[in-house]
Amino acid sequence: MSQVPAEQAPAPDGMSWWFQEAIAAEAPSSATTAPAGQSRADVVVVGGGFTGLWTALRLRERAPHLSVTLIEGGLCGSGASGKNGGKVHGYWGSLATMVANFGPDKALEIARLGTKAQDMMRNFANAPGRDVWWREGGNLRAITTDLQETKAQAAVAMAKELGVPDSVVALSREELACHVRSPVFRGGLALPEGANVQPARLARALRSACLDAGVVVWENTPMTGFDEGSPCRVRHARGEILCDQVVLATNIALVGHPRVARSLALFSSYAVMTEPMEDMVERLGWHADQGLADLRMFVHYFRKAGQDRLLMGSGSGPIAFGAQVDSRLLTHDQLAADRALAAIRRFFPQLGRIGLAKSWGGGIDISPDRLPFFVTTGGGRVHLGAGYSGHGVNATRIGGECLSGLVLGVKDDWTQSPFCTRRVARFPAEPFRTWGGRVVRSAILGCEDAEEHGQRGTTLQRAGAALPKILGIKVGTR
Ligand SMILES: Cc1cc2nc3c(=O)[nH]c(=O)nc-3n(C[C@H](O)[C@H](O)[C@H](O)COP(=O)(O)OP(=O)(O)OC[C@H]3O[C@@H](n4cnc5c(N)ncnc54)[C@H](O)[C@@H]3O)c2cc1C
Repeated sequence: MSQVPAEQAPAPDGMSWWFQEAIAAEAPSSATTAPAGQSRADVVVVGGGFTGLWTALRLRERAPHLSVTLIEGGLCGSGASGKNGGKVHGYWGSLATMVANFGPDKALEIARLGTKAQDMMRNFANAPGRDVWWREGGNLRAITTDLQETKAQAAVAMAKELGVPDSVVALSREELACHVRSPVFRGGLALPEGANVQPARLARALRSACLDAGVVVWENTPMTGFDEGSPCRVRHARGEILCDQVVLATNIALVGHPRVARSLALFSSYAVMTEPMEDMVERLGWHADQGLADLRMFVHYFRKAGQDRLLMGSGSGPIAFGAQVDSRLLTHDQLAADRALAAIRRFFPQLGRIGLAKSWGGGIDISPDRLPFFVTTGGGRVHLGAGYSGHGVNATRIGGECLSGLVLGVKDDWTQSPFCTRRVARFPAEPFRTWGGRVVRSAILGCEDAEEHGQRGTTLQRAGAALPKILGIKVGTR
């Protein structure tokens, strides 16, 4: 067990506890890299995270006559898909924001597609021979400040108004304590839809399913460039692949893609995993497998890993400049990892001294309305999906349907949905996007920290936190 100082998380890096666990549990297999020279496929998918893997798998299932090659720069699942909290949730908890952005009908349509995505994930996760730690216990949101109380009331009221009162249910302090105990929880919300998964195991299981379905998977094969012509040419260090269509599923790398660059900002998120703790379940009173988060904008989230480890995450990592995938900010920011650790101490003091196994960070791609989008560009030959905004586990399943549908040119509930058809807003141009974002982030963090102690942020912090609303920008609006 690592004996780190009580208030400091282990130095974070880019490799998650989940990914190490998944690779250790896997039967030894060697990753195949692309062969030298020229090869050919009908469709090339670039990126072996959830987006690319679901898309490649669905393409082979929907159109078995197509040859599909997936190339991944590292190992499948080594990106955000193998690092996240593994908290699976759709959009019922975001109804109020979505109604404000798109109106009630579209908000309901989006939330129902999230439900369909979870149904499809369940089918995959529970198939014989798979062990991806799928646990379906719903999600809890805890209220810890006055502002969060107001947010929670708005969420419940909106669900009632839309005729779906069971999707978001108010919990009193006592009711929440029946699920999980914390001295700072004032009450909360129960969202019956939601699950937990071991994310890296899910990614590796998807890789196996792709191979079984006839997808050619080449790992340790970064795309070094591509031409959108006909045929498209996807280049890698040892050669190139000619193809009719390309799916770019490279997540944060898309922040540099000209078609979507102005609609994405690059933040980061950090997580800390404890060592096993005896009696953890009893000490927390947390017997079922719900996901848990507070209602901050820079959210603190928790989940159990098995019955004796706790993962806590903090979506409050730094903002990178433009498309610069800066590893110091995205994977090595000690302050962000420490914030995750501080959250566990504040929320669950009854745990006492905690041994910490690992901490890690990763980039998240934020869209202006915090929903992902899936678009076709490059003369109809290039498709891409991005903007998961830190909520990609369920949404990448949506991505698999949308992107495979766009490649196949079908009109269905997915390709006709707001995920593929809405006009996505743009962030201010650089340097205002990053520098403005940093000012607002620091102001909101200051306000949220003060509110947790029953105080208000300073005048400057409150002014900074109000900037997005004043400028009509939806992201960063509390
Ligand atoms: C710390 C953290 C916690 C999170 N927690 C949650 C959560 O609890 N719930 C939730 O819903 N979401 C969460 N998310 C977000 C979620 O993980 C992502 O939205 C989702 O995994 C995105 O999947 P993806 O396939 O698009 O991206 P990735 O998994 O990042 O996959 C993209 C892949 O593309 C590869 N790639 C990039 N460039 C190239 C290239 N040139 N050539 C070849 N390959 C390339 C990368 O190596 C990578 O494997 C979290 C994210 C982080 C970082």
